[in-house]
Amino acid sequence: MRTQVGIVGAGPAGLTLAQLLRAEGVESVVLEARSRDYVEHRIRAGVLEQGTVDTLVGAGAGERLRREGIVHHGIGLQFGGERHRVPLSQLTGGAAIVIYGQTEIVKDLIAIRLDAGDPLHFEVEDVAVHDVESDRPRITYVHEGRPQELECDLVAGCDGFHGVCREAIPAAVLTEFWREYPYGWLGVLAHAAPAHGEVVYCNTERGFALLSLRSPEVSRLYLQCRPDEDVGEWPDERIWEELEARVAVPGYTLNRGPIAEKGVTGMRSYVAEPMRHGRLFLAGDAAHIVPPTGAKGLNLAISDVTLLAEAIADWHRGGKAALLDAYSDACLRRVWRAEHFSWWMTSMLHRPPDADPFDLQLQQSQLRYVVQSEAQARSLAENYVGVAGAAALTAPGARTPA
Ligand SMILES: Cc1cc2nc3c(=O)[nH]c(=O)nc-3n(C[C@H](O)[C@H](O)[C@H](O)COP(=O)(O)OP(=O)(O)OC[C@H]3O[C@@H](n4cnc5c(N)ncnc54)[C@H](O)[C@@H]3O)c2cc1C
Repeated sequence: MRTQVGIVGAGPAGLTLAQLLRAEGVESVVLEARSRDYVEHRIRAGVLEQGTVDTLVGAGAGERLRREGIVHHGIGLQFGGERHRVPLSQLTGGAAIVIYGQTEIVKDLIAIRLDAGDPLHFEVEDVAVHDVESDRPRITYVHEGRPQELECDLVAGCDGFHGVCREAIPAAVLTEFWREYPYGWLGVLAHAAPAHGEVVYCNTERGFALLSLRSPEVSRLYLQCRPDEDVGEWPDERIWEELEARVAVPGYTLNRGPIAEKGVTGMRSYVAEPMRHGRLFLAGDAAHIVPPTGAKGLNLAISDVTLLAEAIADWHRGGKAALLDAYSDACLRRVWRAEHFSWWMTSMLHRPPDADPFDLQLQQSQLRYVVQSEAQARSLAENYVGVAGAAALTAPGARTPA
């Protein structure tokens, strides 16, 4: 079998790339290790930057997003028992965020691809990429019990943090940057109308909490916990009591409802450089991870594949490789802006397990400064809505390679 672009992974990065390439007349085959049902119900991100929305709409995947996405013009920041509002749109010349679940994006993109009859294979096994340093890279895999080989012009590694594509880059070429955090998030999806109009980030003596949502009927709620926390120790009643203790402010009552899903996620920062080796291009979580506090992971994945699709289309049209050559460096400028912002939000909002009194005072001072100083609030807002990330792509000053 042959195709122009072999895409490993049917998460947001792989599916969006396939759709963007299709619009440019470039053929691709998407290979996914999990079942369709699994990828459509894997609950993760839900805060979209305007640039992400624009890409999805431009790719023809925006019909339901435009109808059901909830536009937010601000976020809440709660500390010292008081809730403050950061007016994102006012501080960024009108930019906003849109609340729409990652599961819904994935469902929309899968439906479009399958309706068009384009190749998307679920439950493939033993995926391996070969010869990425040559001009005939290959992907081998097993599908429905039969070994397959796919010859491509290019391979896109969109297979997430635990995928196989990054391993195809020789260790001597790859530089990895890590930061592990002593925090986890216990995430809960509850059929309860969000009493909070906007997303609220809470720094409390009992630990961090986040009030978010997926729809007018569904709340998405998080509690800081240990990274190795046993979710079995958290019966629903304990979750609601702990949430109420952490998010309480005068005049606010959390709405309770049936909990449909709960799970613990550890937190890390990670970057792999470069994001390209020969004819293999990494995108999304395959190349970088951010702690979820900045709501950047999904947005970075979409930003990567937007650049990659443009570069591939340009190359296919005229044989020019300039954009492909610039891909890794351009992505990494934005990635590092998001890494810094996500680390900063994480450090400012979580309660360290050792709770050094000096660190806690610094944290509170930083939070007070954000809500007192328009410049500080604007910096948070520009990063949160993605204006700072977009600007980083063309910021002056060379990026120092690792
Ligand atoms: C609890 C949680 C909350 C989050 N909240 C936010 C948020 O609010 N905002 C935000 O922007 N981001 C958030 N994120 C991050 C966001 O979900 C990820 O950054 C996003 O999923 C990245 O998309 P991706 O396509 O790069 O990778 P993935 O979504 O991981 O997709 C990779 C795909 O590749 C498949 N795959 C893996 N190995 C192979 C293989 N060998 N062969 C074939 N297929 C393979 C996987 O099954 C998967 O379907 C959150 C993440 C978590 C875990």
